Amino acid sequence: MLNYSIDADGIATVEFDYPNKSQNILNAQSLGAYGETMQKALADPAVKGIVIASAKKDFIAGGDLAELGAATDAAAFHAAISQTHKLMRAIELGGKPIAAALNGSALGGGMEIALGCHYRVAADNPKARFGFPEVTLGLLPGAGGTQRVPRLVGMMAAAPLLMEGKRIKVAEAQKIGMIHAVVKVGDERTAARAWVADAIAAGSKPLQPWDTKGFKIPGGGPNRPNGMQMLMAANAMLREKTYDNYPAPRHILSCVYEGLSTNLDTGLAIEAPRYFTNLVMSPVSKNMIRSLFFGMNEANKLASRPAGVPQQKYSKIGMLGAGMMGAGIAMSTATAGIDIVLLDTTQEAADKGKEYARKQWNKQVQRGRMTAEGMEALLARIHPTADYADLKGCEMVIEAVFEKREIKADVTKKTEAVIAADAIFASNTSTLPITGLAEASVRPANFIGLHFFSPAEKMPLVEIIVGKATSDATLARSMDYVRAIGKTPIVVNDSRGFYTSRVFGTYVSEGMALLEEGVPPALIDKAGLIAGMPVGPLALADEVSIELVYKIAQQTRADLGSAYVERAADRVAAKMVADLGRLGRKSGAGFYDYPADGPKHLWPGLAQQFPVKVPAGTQSAGADEAPAQQGGRAKNALLAAADDGTAMLTLEQIVERLILVQSVETVRCLEEKVLRAPIDADVGAILGWGYPPFRGGPIGWLHTLGPAQAVATLDRLAEQHGPRFAAPQLLRNMAAKGERFYPA
Ligand code: NAD
Repeated sequence: MLNYSIDADGIATVEFDYPNKSQNILNAQSLGAYGETMQKALADPAVKGIVIASAKKDFIAGGDLAELGAATDAAAFHAAISQTHKLMRAIELGGKPIAAALNGSALGGGMEIALGCHYRVAADNPKARFGFPEVTLGLLPGAGGTQRVPRLVGMMAAAPLLMEGKRIKVAEAQKIGMIHAVVKVGDERTAARAWVADAIAAGSKPLQPWDTKGFKIPGGGPNRPNGMQMLMAANAMLREKTYDNYPAPRHILSCVYEGLSTNLDTGLAIEAPRYFTNLVMSPVSKNMIRSLFFGMNEANKLASRPAGVPQQKYSKIGMLGAGMMGAGIAMSTATAGIDIVLLDTTQEAADKGKEYARKQWNKQVQRGRMTAEGMEALLARIHPTADYADLKGCEMVIEAVFEKREIKADVTKKTEAVIAADAIFASNTSTLPITGLAEASVRPANFIGLHFFSPAEKMPLVEIIVGKATSDATLARSMDYVRAIGKTPIVVNDSRGFYTSRVFGTYVSEGMALLEEGVPPALIDKAGLIAGMPVGPLALADEVSIELVYKIAQQTRADLGSAYVERAADRVAAKMVADLGRLGRKSGAGFYDYPADGPKHLWPGLAQQFPVKVPAGTQSAGADEAPAQQGGRAKNALLAAADDGTAMLTLEQIVERLILVQSVETVRCLEEKVLRAPIDADVGAILGWGYPPFRGGPIGWLHTLGPAQAVATLDRLAEQHGPRFAAPQLLRNMAAKGERFYPA
């Protein structure tokens, strides 16, 4: 855990060396060992000074998230963290010079340990990062980070570190004053030791700045004009950005304001129980840790990859269709150092795809994020062509041609005539079932769905769709490709809309149903944002195009025949597309108008097409009334009865519907075995369509509510709004048995 030695000059070295891990992490065990060792060193008269170091390639990676995620005893947790605070104060005030030798990254609790030393010297290691990523997982740096960082570097410089989890490189850390000195890699221990030796020789008893008489917070504290202004702006910005869905940044601001208004000891006593323990116990941090950290890590480690299939290395991929998706996938592939043959119907069309890549990368070059030579090297990997013969030697070919069965069948046949018998053919279809598309293949076992998201060069998720005939080997090798290009895979079984489109579609549809019910459109889209979604449902319908919603409804109706149940969204889409010709953003007209000379705004005509339900006795909405006014007026009367006698919806009810409609469809996907595991649902939702991480994911949110409460709520919603909210049997069974989706 820790190596401890004392040299001839009485300088002790305390070296973090977590057993059987590549990184040092902080948990009850390692912190316990640190406490014991430091107390021993402080008490030992033979020890004159101490160097804190690491035996790993980095200093300390941070707190043990498994331990934090599992902590449920608030009193015990608070006692433990208070103990850590006490230890760090004893170190700071122990009268012996203590220096940290930072050989690599020091993050979260690791940086806090370093901040508890009198002196920090870092190796000039280009890979090293310093900062506090806690906020990104719903936590705060609770070993005194919220108190020491702003006291050391000032509130301004501390803000991005604490509030955004920004990680900085060594030069910046030195510039803002978080690190005292930077030395050649390998010299950091010697430098730390030299500082300790000098302090011993000088006979000084080093103190932290905040323990020094006359200490002033750099740039002023929270009650100085600058500080007040900064906090006021930060509060407002936070509220605007997060709708207060994330308690961590708000708690950090409170720690800074309250803690810096007093001395360090009182500040620590404020940080520990009121804010840090509170966050660790909150469902938000549990959700974020589970989905964003463990779920994502499992997915990236390919935990669900079929065993026994040798890892596939890729050197040449074929891409059919050089359109928006094809060009993006080509960019991701080339970036991973894999050659890519980009095929379209004509050489010119294929060249256009490569041009797209050049345009995107050129922006990186202009921003200094890529060199011109680097860009040319990447472009050299993209080989545009119209000739199928060029696909020879590809280990995998992905198609992203038009969404038409016949065209996809045609390119499948032409490709399979050229590629090796064991090569994989993947379809990037967004709607067509994979098993059906595989009928065009002579090797359906090698046929699979790889559903990318737009823009494909940026979006991190790939939904892998396993058809009826897809072999385990094809799945395993496809997962290898997804990882090779640095994306996160989730694996689902074949079904209409697969998982992501199917559930994401319910959010958009629910927004359209609300519109038909007479809820003001401005309120619907605002409710989506307040729910934590990145875009309101109507704005989103415009983005993906209302026409697509309309077309999918038509296709589903044709496929299902009499079994098809018409939804409100189908009627709204039909009216918008067939009657009004408002297809969405791409046609410049949808639920919103897109004027060439200004920002988009809700289409005023909506009020006539979908009259807003107003409380009894209130004048009904006119077409000439601005949508914002409609929203405002209806919002004031949210709890009133409408003029037809039915109750008006509250904001909370709208949010509840927009969120639970996704959860209930996700449970159906689990029940129908479209999804293989709850965590796939949660990771896929967050990465695929920006589902709010604070809820953990559509399943994580049900876990948070608890299945029993979820069933009760869904029963009420189903009674009010129809069977789309009906609780699936799977959920009822869990509620009856007192089970949950994840460990408590
Ligand atoms: P696009 O229209 O931008 O590109 C399609 C390209 O395929 C065009 O360049 C076209 O010339 C080419 N093409 C058509 N027929 C061809 C043929 N026979 N041989 C070779 N090339 C041919 O479309 P897109 O948005 O890139 O979508 C492509 C596929 O990806 C579709 O199946 C779509 O459903 C799916 N998809 C799209 C998105 C999205 O957000 N756009 C997301 C996921 C999946």
